[in-house]
This record gives sequence, structure tokens and C-alpha cells, in this order.
Amino acid sequence: MRIGAIEAGGTKFVCGVGSEEGIIEDSVSFPTRHPEETLEQAISYFQDKQVEAIGVGSFGPIDIDPASSTYGYVTTTPKPGWANYDFIGRLKREFAVPYGWDTDVNAAALAEAKWGAAKGLDSCVYYTIGTGVGVGVYAEGRLVHGLVHPEGGHVLVRRHPKDTFGGHCPFHGDCLEGMAAGPALEARWKVKGHELPEGHPAWEMEAYYIAQAVTSTILMLSPKKVILGGGVMQQAHLFKMIRSEVQRNLNGYVSSDTILKQIDTYIVPPGLGSKAGLAGALALGLEAVQAK
Ligand code: ADP
Ligand code: ZN
Repeated sequence: MRIGAIEAGGTKFVCGVGSEEGIIEDSVSFPTRHPEETLEQAISYFQDKQVEAIGVGSFGPIDIDPASSTYGYVTTTPKPGWANYDFIGRLKREFAVPYGWDTDVNAAALAEAKWGAAKGLDSCVYYTIGTGVGVGVYAEGRLVHGLVHPEGGHVLVRRHPKDTFGGHCPFHGDCLEGMAAGPALEARWKVKGHELPEGHPAWEMEAYYIAQAVTSTILMLSPKKVILGGGVMQQAHLFKMIRSEVQRNLNGYVSSDTILKQIDTYIVPPGLGSKAGLAGALALGLEAVQAK
């Protein structure tokens, strides 16, 4: 079976095809521009690919409520041209196949549960700490949607005692994304994230914020794996700092050896690496076929 996959990011689109085992056979990437132009590029990629379904993991917010008249739309994004854009509708005009549609982070969580770091587990949480912060939630063997979809990147955090930065989120100022996403790091320290050396105070602050979010996630959802991806998490030394900060926050309260003794195997990078997003879109496509 050949499934189409679109990882629709705010910065770049990745389109690919793959198999039901999650193997990506081919992919292309191009910058995210105006929606009509960008979708045109995606459509021309799939034109000769003979896919049986297409899965889309998209930046958001998006409408994923099947009962809604705007299901398949990107909704309130400030990204020019994309607000209220009928993403799935546009694709449907070209290809009469089943569609999978979810947030990019839910897609990544699904792929990690199927084929990656949470393989064999019935729950995991996937964070991306990149241009923004996003959270995908997989629980009891399925993705969590709720009222709209989880937006855990914007949870409120307690300010680091030495942090005077105002925060970078256009909606909330000093929420998690406002304090810890790549652009927040850059605005606070006036250098690109990848230029900040290990040992710089930036990282202690970064770990402090991410660990708060992870702590709340553990308390709220009790996931069996916490996966941290995205550009900022390329700083591998952050993992150790986040793990010990989470243990410090929990202070022995959650009595699980996984947290108390094996936290190195609990808070981890994506098993699928940078492929998690596209593999996630593939997994959504696969679920759409299976639902048929
Ligand atoms: P996106 O979120 O747009 O999909 P990424 O996950 O790659 O893309 O995140 C991009 C953000 O991550 C940028 O703000 C960038 O400065 C930051 N970033 C990328 N690489 C690193 C790195 N090695 N160390 C710290 N920050 C990084
Ligand atoms: Zn916010």
C-alpha cells in the first residue's frame, strides 16, 4: 500500500510517500508560502504517485471536528492567507482518497507510538520546542482531541527568578512558548539558539521552563513516555537538565520507578528523529484507510 503524507509546517512543507510499515520511500520539501501556491506544489508532487490515502499533520490551530462545517480548515493563524483556509477541501478537489487530518504534533505523537520511542505503549506526549511550542497527546491508544485540540505550548509557567524577559507570545506574553521557544531564546539573549554555548545561563532557564511543562503533563496525563523534539532540543545537554529538574519538581510524589530511577528512558528525544512529523502524517493516512 502506498500512502501520501504532508507535514505542513509554518515554515516548510514536507510531502512524501511511504508504506504501512512507516517507511518513507520518497519526500520533498519546500517553503510554506501563500496557501494556494503551497498546495499547488503539494498537489503536483502527488500527481503521479498513485496514493491510496493522504495524511496531513498541520500547523494550527486547525479544525479537526468531523461534525464541523469547517472541518479540514486552518483556523485562526496569524500566518498571512492561511486563516480560514480549507486545506483538506483543496486536496479533495484533486484526489478522491481517504484523508487523515490532525495537528503536526498529534501526528508526531502517533508516529512515535506506532514506530518510535513509544512503540508498544498506549500513551505518550510529544513536545516540539522550535519556532513555537506544540504538544501532541496520545492516550489510551488514541490521539486526544477534546474540544478543539490540546494547545499545551501555551500553558502558563512560573517565571525563573533571574528572568526579566517580557515574553514573546503574541497572545499571552510569558506563556511556555513565549518564554522557551526558539524565537524567545533569541530575543532574550540576542543570539541564535545554536550559538549559545553549553553552560550558558540560557540553558538552565530553558530547562526550568520546559521541565515545568513536563512536570504538569506528568501530573495531568500520566503518559508512559515524554518525547521532546524540535530545533531547540538539538541541544542534547538539555535532556539531563530537564530530567533532574522534573525529578526535583515532583519531589518523589509520583511513585514510579520509571520516574524515580529510569528517567533517562522516560524523557527522551524522538525515536524517529526529524522524521517523526512526516511519519506521523503517514500514520494519519494509514488510519484513514483503516477507518474506511
Ligand atoms: P519549526 O518549529 O519551524 O518546525 P524547528 O523545530 O527546526 O522548526 O525549530 C526552529 C527553531 O529552533 C528556531 O527558533 C531555531 O533558532 C531553533 N534552533 C534550531 N536549531 C537549534 C539548535 N541547535 N540549538 C538551539 N536552537 C535551535
Ligand atoms: Zn502563548
